[in-house]
Amino acid sequence: MQREYACEIFSHLYREYVSEDTRLCFLEFENPFEILILTILSAQTTDVTVNGIRDHLFDCYPDAQALAGASVEEVEAIIRPTGFYHTKARNIIATSLALIDRFGGRVPDTMNDLLTLPGVGRKTANIVLHHAYGVHDGIAVDTHVKRLSWRLGFTDHIDPVHIEQDLLALFPSSVWKYLNFVLISHSRRVCTARRPKCGECIVADRCRCAFRIEK
Ligand code: SF4
Repeated sequence: MQREYACEIFSHLYREYVSEDTRLCFLEFENPFEILILTILSAQTTDVTVNGIRDHLFDCYPDAQALAGASVEEVEAIIRPTGFYHTKARNIIATSLALIDRFGGRVPDTMNDLLTLPGVGRKTANIVLHHAYGVHDGIAVDTHVKRLSWRLGFTDHIDPVHIEQDLLALFPSSVWKYLNFVLISHSRRVCTARRPKCGECIVADRCRCAFRIEK
């Protein structure tokens, strides 16, 4: 796909979903530690579910020091609604321990350091860098971004690493900050996994999959 064409699609979506006071993150967090832990917990579940257990979790464990010393069973009981809670509880406790042991209790601000933490892949690292530190060197590719990028022809790949590379090559760095948000917004509201609402879609005339997704 040509860059100009992709940017036209982005412009339409940007105008639809972003205004001056738009908050570009779906998770409710107050500091880098919270966005890191919440993003690990957001795998395979909704942001609404994660936001629902946020207060309870951080009331009990407000920082890495507290969570590093938590009992697995007590953490599991709090985060159970997010699914995969056995693995997630171990990962967020192990990540907290790593923050204490290797980073002085702080969440690191580089991709390489973040990727050393248990349960942290490029998607989580990108979200932390975007929202905690304002670093927009990459694009977080979740299930929404993956689906939209393929349907709209931004990529022909299906694995997140290659999709991210395609997006970074296709779009100017000035839009990387917004891409995850606008694609997720359009995915949730219009281009749903099943039965996308192509008849209501503002980029249908530019979409290679318009009216072609099996019902
Ligand atoms: S035209 Fe249909 S498939 Fe294409 S982006 Fe819009 S809703 Fe999704």
